Amino acid sequence: MKNWFEVKPTCPVCHVRFERSPGEGTGAMIIVLSLVPLPMILLFILLFNVWNVALPVLLIAMILAPIVLALLIYRHARGVWVSVIFLSGGLYTDEEKPLKQ
Ligand SMILES: [Zn+2]
Repeated sequence: MKNWFEVKPTCPVCHVRFERSPGEGTGAMIIVLSLVPLPMILLFILLFNVWNVALPVLLIAMILAPIVLALLIYRHARGVWVSVIFLSGGLYTDEEKPLKQ
């Protein structure tokens, strides 16, 4: 990983190219979007029913928490998505590319 939002174009060890075509990393966003709602429901139940926080605090928490949560898990979702591409045979080096197509 180059930083929190970008993947290195190739693996520094085995030189496979992670993203062949633009938009191939969209699966990571689907992973993030499917994982964020459950903790948000749990947080809402905790804030509203258990801790009885004030409404403005609840609103701010319910706006900021999914953003922070998505930022925290995005990097890991990219890693999971690269492994899905690997398992489906889409991960190979530029030298291997002519053999694969
Ligand atoms: Zn590698």
